Amino acid sequence: MKTDQPLLSWKEAMRLNRRAFLLICQKDQKAVISRMVSVVWNALTPYVGIYLSAQLLSALTEGAAADTVTRLVLLNLVSAAVLSLAGAFLNKWKQTESACQYYKVMQFLSDKVMTMDYADADCSSTWALYDNIEQNRWCLGMGMGNTCSHVEKLLSAILTFSGGAALTISLFTSPVPDSAGRYTLLNSPLFLLVMAVVMIAVTCLSPVLSNKAGSYAARMANVRKEANRLVSFFGVLGFENAMAADIRIYRQDRMCDRVMNDKTFLYSSKGLFARLSRGSLGLYQAASAALSVVFTGVVYLFVCLKALGGAFGIGAVTQYVASITRLSGSIGGLIRILGDMRNNASFLKPTFEFLDIPNRMYQGSLTVEKRIDRDYEIEFRNVSFRYPGSDTYALKNVSMKFKIGQRLAVVGMNGSGKTTFIKLLCRLYDPTEGEILLNGIDIKKYDYQEYMSVFSVVFQDYSLFAYPLGQNVAGSVTYDRSQAERCLEDAGFGQRLAELPEGLDTYLHKDISDDGVDISGGESQKIALARTLYRNALFIVLDEPTAALDPAAEFEVYTRFDDIVEDKTAVYISHRLASCRFCDVIAVFDHGQIVQQGTHEKLLEDSRGKYHALWYAQAQYYDR
Ligand code: ADP
Repeated sequence: MKTDQPLLSWKEAMRLNRRAFLLICQKDQKAVISRMVSVVWNALTPYVGIYLSAQLLSALTEGAAADTVTRLVLLNLVSAAVLSLAGAFLNKWKQTESACQYYKVMQFLSDKVMTMDYADADCSSTWALYDNIEQNRWCLGMGMGNTCSHVEKLLSAILTFSGGAALTISLFTSPVPDSAGRYTLLNSPLFLLVMAVVMIAVTCLSPVLSNKAGSYAARMANVRKEANRLVSFFGVLGFENAMAADIRIYRQDRMCDRVMNDKTFLYSSKGLFARLSRGSLGLYQAASAALSVVFTGVVYLFVCLKALGGAFGIGAVTQYVASITRLSGSIGGLIRILGDMRNNASFLKPTFEFLDIPNRMYQGSLTVEKRIDRDYEIEFRNVSFRYPGSDTYALKNVSMKFKIGQRLAVVGMNGSGKTTFIKLLCRLYDPTEGEILLNGIDIKKYDYQEYMSVFSVVFQDYSLFAYPLGQNVAGSVTYDRSQAERCLEDAGFGQRLAELPEGLDTYLHKDISDDGVDISGGESQKIALARTLYRNALFIVLDEPTAALDPAAEFEVYTRFDDIVEDKTAVYISHRLASCRFCDVIAVFDHGQIVQQGTHEKLLEDSRGKYHALWYAQAQYYDR
């Protein structure tokens, strides 16, 4: 069967596992410690039982005194009780400490997304990589979530091996007495060697075969990724309540059926994995299981022959069978877990590729001057910009200046570069060519967070969080309630606020609180506006700020905007020209360039200009 992805080398695989484990240790030390202590306990304590019960059986078969037998029985009982009680306690501790471990591990990715350059967060290849990691986790259970349990199993196998070896050595070293006739053959070094080799070979072969079966998951990862993508879309489409109406009208259930009932689909009865299970994959699994049984047979044969020859008593038979079975299990476990770690490393690789995405944006250290006269000026100087991976310029040679306190409108057709202009202004992206200056200094030279804090933006695709309303407005858990109320009032949300059962403490949506309220598009736009006002930044940027408002609400926002914005600079992006008429400067974008700049009246005078054309194209729909 042709597979599409080679396994990683052992060295690389172990390097990735080590890195993942160290990261988890840093993030969640207590959980790791509790898990490891539990493993040590669970791996070693069974040998106490094996040893003590062997002692008891020996005492019985050798006719020991009644009080010796009684003492051994009590010792067996008390030790079993104490050990399992302590084991239960450790287990509980481990469960408590690791209850949130999965989320803590996932937080690596979430923290990374929140701190990576916006350009990377906004890039489809970043999300394709993330999608890959998520699918591996969700559909195959592979990735960083496995690392801790893999290390746990590795440690357990090593400890079980050590304990098993300590109790098994004497099986090979205790000789059959010379009086045992043919059984003395069992003392022959050659026989012992053959026995050890057979046991080791069978022990190792079984997990090697099972690893081979397991490696299909890693090697077929890309094939599975495509299939999982289909299943995770079509398999749960019914849960997408936002699509419920469209699904019914366009009968999307038929599309789902077509994919989900396709018998040749990867996971279906005639798909690749079913064929593999009937062929090589299934054979590896069956052979691995059969060899485990062969091993048990060989062990019983060897131990019983030695006992029959008189090398040790009945008590020792149980000890040897139990300890060698554990010893073999640990070798098998060791091989299996190393194989699992190698397979899983193929899935750790994309995780680290994601975590290692570098922050390339130049981070300056200048503080933004706090001027009492609020005399700030922004200048775009010959700025051109291409989105990462794109050949075409979204902005081409844009030059313009504007001062604090001005009202700037950015107008133009869809796709003309308005939002891109704002994203560059707020330094979500850096220009490909040219520079942007704040008071004559390249904005790259300012401390990034500080420069960002100069802006308050409502993007077209803004989002509110499922937090209480007031926290949404303030962007913080603690905030000035009266200021939050004032901002909501200014944004036109005052009446609705008065109706909310918990006022500012009302949760938005129902993700976190069942008492949360669902809000309409227009209402959420007003809350987003209030959030912009609360920040009290120098620049207020509104990207289509009223698109979801009804005409009356839109009129209200615009007529009050001058008062609301006060002496701050306001940048409006809109393709509704009527709403920009009152601005000091209107910049008209077309195909990524500023083709006209000026006041409404001045721009209208140019009857061949773009603004004139846009204005009259819209005028037929609006009563100016
Ligand atoms: P507007 O806001 O005027 O509608 P945009 O600034 O959003 O226009 O888009 C300008 C151009 O840049 C369009 O051609 C658009 O397709 C392209 N563009 C926007 N965002 C991206 C992106 N993240 N990656 C690649 N191209 C983009």
